Amino acid sequence: MKKPKIAIYGFTGCSGCQLEILDLEEALLDIFNMVEIVNFEMVGIKKKPLPRVDVSFVEGSISKEEDIKKLREIREKSRIVIAMGACACFGGVQGIRNFMDSKEAARAAYGIDDCPRGSTEKISGIDEYVKVDYYLPGCPIDRKEFLQLVKKIVLGRGLKPQTYPLCVECKRKGIVCLLDRGILCLGPIVRAGCDALCPSLNRGCEGCRGMVVDANLMEQIEIMKKMKFSKEEIIRKLRIFAANQFKEVEKYL
Ligand code: SF4
Ligand code: SF4
Repeated sequence: MKKPKIAIYGFTGCSGCQLEILDLEEALLDIFNMVEIVNFEMVGIKKKPLPRVDVSFVEGSISKEEDIKKLREIREKSRIVIAMGACACFGGVQGIRNFMDSKEAARAAYGIDDCPRGSTEKISGIDEYVKVDYYLPGCPIDRKEFLQLVKKIVLGRGLKPQTYPLCVECKRKGIVCLLDRGILCLGPIVRAGCDALCPSLNRGCEGCRGMVVDANLMEQIEIMKKMKFSKEEIIRKLRIFAANQFKEVEKYL
């Protein structure tokens, strides 16, 4: 059987998702047996011109004008494009800049009065510029989920996203709801798939997998209001990882 050709690219982010792949250790050998990795920027495998592949995993948000051209070339040369991690899926933590004065953001990030030349006006996920076939969220991604995804690609199975919220995974694991214990958790509106990692450790979900389809944002905000969070705190908490998904949150407050 011909091995699918895979490429892994990185734009603006901390490279934590690419690191998660490297951290697969022994399972990484299985991946090398299943697929042909023809481009993997973090380990220095960088082809020029960009190779034609079956699947490109793209990490990082788009924050520089020069990245847009490369991203479009990746799309043109890939049968399937997967947005990998919160940054590529919806802009990630740096998306907060979209809701700040640009000078204030530049001072906070670089200690200078303006964003570096060539910065895009807004920080965005990759689907602002190209069609995305599948979203693999998380900050960072869940390495087991990545492995399962690669297996599905090899077997030619469809890539179906989780369409239910994190609370479902919590219930499956028998975790007593953190909200009932007075601890803030964004689980009711966040896409499942991490096996309720934070609630398993008695920590509220902070939303690194972004909003689930049909999330009841209004109800989540009501919960937060009842917990006495101020308007500013609610906005800040919702916008940590996926600010772009919560751009209209003010209208619910
Ligand atoms: S702890 Fe969080 S994820 Fe778990 S059931 Fe409660 S709200 Fe949902
Ligand atoms: S529980 Fe929430 S914040 Fe924690 S890993 Fe899962 S989606 Fe991310």
